[in-house]
Formats: sequence, C-alpha cells, structure tokens
Amino acid sequence: MTVISKHLEAILPKIIEVRQKLHEIPELKFEEFKTAKLISETLKSFGYNVENGIAKTGLTAILDTGKPGKTIGLRADMDALPIEEPNNNQRRSRHPGRMHACGHDGHCATLLAVAYALNQIKNELSGKVKFIFQPAEEGGKGSTAMIEAGVLKNPPLDEIYAFHNWPGLPEGIIGVKDGTILLGNGRIEISIKGKPAHTAQPENAVNPVTIGAELITKLEIEKLSWSANSTVLNILSFNSGKLRGMAEKSEIIAVYYIDTEDNLRELKSFINKYCDQVKDKYKAEIALSFKPFHSPTINTANETDKISNAARMVCGDKKITKLEKSMIASEDFSEYLKHIPGCFFLVGAGESANPVHTDKFQFNDNVISTAANIICQMVINSNVKDGISAK
Ligand SMILES: [Zn+2]
Ligand SMILES: [Zn+2]
Repeated sequence: MTVISKHLEAILPKIIEVRQKLHEIPELKFEEFKTAKLISETLKSFGYNVENGIAKTGLTAILDTGKPGKTIGLRADMDALPIEEPNNNQRRSRHPGRMHACGHDGHCATLLAVAYALNQIKNELSGKVKFIFQPAEEGGKGSTAMIEAGVLKNPPLDEIYAFHNWPGLPEGIIGVKDGTILLGNGRIEISIKGKPAHTAQPENAVNPVTIGAELITKLEIEKLSWSANSTVLNILSFNSGKLRGMAEKSEIIAVYYIDTEDNLRELKSFINKYCDQVKDKYKAEIALSFKPFHSPTINTANETDKISNAARMVCGDKKITKLEKSMIASEDFSEYLKHIPGCFFLVGAGESANPVHTDKFQFNDNVISTAANIICQMVINSNVKDGISAK
C-alpha cells in the first residue's frame, strides 16, 4: 500500500460522512451556500485557508509547498438538480424538490479526500495545487463565472483536471480519451415568415406551415449522410398554424451536439444550405440562429497521458478504457480547457447503476477512493521533483 493510499484510507470514513451530509442538503445553481459552508469547514479542519464567495458560492484552497513547480488545478462541481428524491434512499435530501442526482456531492467529497491526503505528504511535493469547488455546473455556466472571477490566476494554473462518476461504465473502470471526451451543444432557432392569403387560394400565399414541414423533412433525411460522425441534430418543436385563416409565421426549435468546432461550422453550413433552398423556392423570409451553450470538452494529449499513467499505477492496465467515441453528454469543464491544458476523465460507477439526472440515481461511494487515488498519484507523478513515488 502506498503512503498516499494509506492517508486516503484513513480519512475515508470522515469523507463518506461528509458526502452523505452534502447529499442531504442539495442546492441548485448559485445557491450552494450550505454546501460551500460544509466544504469550507472541512478544508479548514484539514489546515487549509479558504477563499469563499468566488462567483457567489464558489471556493478555493491552495496547497503551497513553498518549492518551485507546477500549479495544478483540481475542480469539483457542487450543485444539485431540481428533482424530488424518493423516500426509499437512506440518507435522502432534506430539501424538497432538490436532489444530488448527478453525484456532485461525491465529486466534492473526493476532492476533499485529495486535499487531505496531499497535505499529509506536502513536504515531498513541489509546486502548488489549487482545489476549486465550482457552483452551477448544471446549466448555470459556473465555470465561466469562476474563470471571470479569476480562478485560473493567482497563482496562474498550468493544468486542470476533473472527473465524473459514470453509471454504465463498470465499477472501477477508468474512461480516458485524448481530444473530445464530451460533446458541445446548443440550440437552433429557425423562424419562417410567409404571406397569408384567402384559405381558398393557397397559390397566392407563402405558407410557413408547409415550408417548415418541408425544411424539417429535408434536414431529417439529409442528416443521415453525416450521422457517421458524432454530430446530433434533433428537432424539438415546430410551432405554427391557426384554426381559421392562414398563418404568417412558423418556428422550428432544434438542439445539436457536436464533437468539434469544425463540426459546428459544418452543421451551420448544412442547415444554411437547406434554409436558402426553401427560401428561394417559396420566396419566404427565413431567419436562422445558432445559440451555442456548452463547448466540446477537449482533453489535451499530455495531460490525458498523465491521468492514464496514474490510473494504470493505481488500478492496473486492465482497468483503463480508452474511449473510442465522445460520450453523448456535455460539461462546463470545457470552458477551463479553452484556456489551459487539462483532462476530464470518467470513473465507472457500475454497469447497471441507475443513470444520472433521474430520481433512481444513487452515488456509488466506491468511486471516491478510486478517483482520489488516481488524482493524488497524478499530482505525485507531476510534482514530486526527484521522481520518488509516494511509496
Ligand atoms: Zn448533471
Ligand atoms: Zn454532473
């Protein structure tokens, strides 16, 4: 057993207790006041100074070895979801209508375990480690708010890492991928303006209902040609029509998921082409707008290797899965990776574990030890100057 795993094992009962307490007080984006308080108190009990109130409810703590070396950022997300937790869970949410249904309570607990263990071997480390507890991952762009509040500076971070517990991936299996690991996404709005006429004279009208229907059909048929790559286009709604008389307007709303920004450019030109075709054919006015939300989460090669190597040392070669395709999900961790190198990786929570964002989800506490050991080992590999391991 390595020294670091001994330290982690020693603190694990306390960490699991903190995880369960966090689970009982789930809070939505930018309202994580009780969550931040509990995390802050725990960090202080480990001997850290904490900076609170970053981007409203975010907080950071720094492990400064006093020796030159890299500054590594480690990030956990803190927020919960607007889901009612069923009664049958033992330690369930005490906040009605809110639930840690994505396991962010477990991510915070893991990062606390890492903060504790690395502090125990501080003298053997060089450089700095910054622990980042971020609000509002669930649709609140908390990462952007943290970046704007200067989390990547003071001291400037060289690299950044995070993980997600992953139901569907067998327990103990680590999912890594160089390049895009999670997709970017956004919304597409297409407004069609036609020209009404008497209902008996459709030949004198420009009908936004039939134009919209034709456009949707074209997009649905033609998208099959590029379904080989990871781009997803999904029409969500089509609003138009009247019970009497002819409509003047219609609106199509769709969502997209893309692997790279190049895919997004392709998708834009694809949709533009078909909008132009029907516009010219029917002399309608068509306004197309793309509203990007998450960017793709794109890992850098060197930092992905660092996580893979650490995972290999902790779990053994057989437990590492190199993901072939990006996962159909999005993360605001992507924003950090636009600024500095880093890696987002997956820790298997069990093949038959219930999916995140459902009231059936239950965080698998075994993920904590696996993830914390990998992250600690990665920091040791990176920031132990003379190359000694923590053995
Ligand atoms: Zn989520
Ligand atoms: Zn999540």
